[in-house]
Amino acid sequence: MDGEVISLRNKHLRNKHRSSIRACTRMGITVLVAGLTTMFSGFIANTVQAKQEAQQKVLYFTFDDGPGALYTPQILDVLRREHVHATFFVLGSRCTELPDVMKRMQREGHEIGSHGYDHRNLAHVPEHVIRSEVQMADTAIVQVTGKKPRYFRPAYGAIDRRELPMILQMGHPVVFWTVDSLDWKATSAASIIHEVKTWARPGSIVLFHDGVSQSRYTVQALPVLIRYYRTQGYVFKVL
Ligand SMILES: [Zn+2]
Repeated sequence: MDGEVISLRNKHLRNKHRSSIRACTRMGITVLVAGLTTMFSGFIANTVQAKQEAQQKVLYFTFDDGPGALYTPQILDVLRREHVHATFFVLGSRCTELPDVMKRMQREGHEIGSHGYDHRNLAHVPEHVIRSEVQMADTAIVQVTGKKPRYFRPAYGAIDRRELPMILQMGHPVVFWTVDSLDWKATSAASIIHEVKTWARPGSIVLFHDGVSQSRYTVQALPVLIRYYRTQGYVFKVL
């Protein structure tokens, strides 16, 4: 995928609003402001791309907050069994703890992006803090995989849009999502399946988590979703 900021598809404006607001209930109103600002900048930047992609039945499955010792391997098992490649936005601190899981992710053809070093909220922090968070994550990921991650997704989707050029200058296009599976607060696989089926459209970037306790439901929901969308003629791609 090309483009400096991949944030929002025209059709998904409403959903993205909803996702941002829900994510923000966890983090407070400051994140909401940052999230909405970023969202509109992405919307303007990507209208052309959105038009091109709206015709193709492609889904981009993405996983945040890993690697996790328990659920990341299970998610990798599902993806291997179903022949699906996905994008993992990993935390630098966790990469160092689980190098074998990271190497497997890489070996099995998944895209590895950066989710920062330790899930720090980067909304309203000084530029040098953002820079160091991105750099520390890069260093940790390179140490384990030998490769610098391409995309960066800020924790909670929280970043001031004015910081985006700096992150791009560091070699990372910033990627958000257009559909939140809400797996981070799921109490069953069914709610994840329902959420994705309600909102996913051609070209959607779907947010899941592989590093939280609710990821157990993500593991169960994934094969159902993959098979459903395959029967609808969709293909799955990495960003
Ligand atoms: Zn996260």
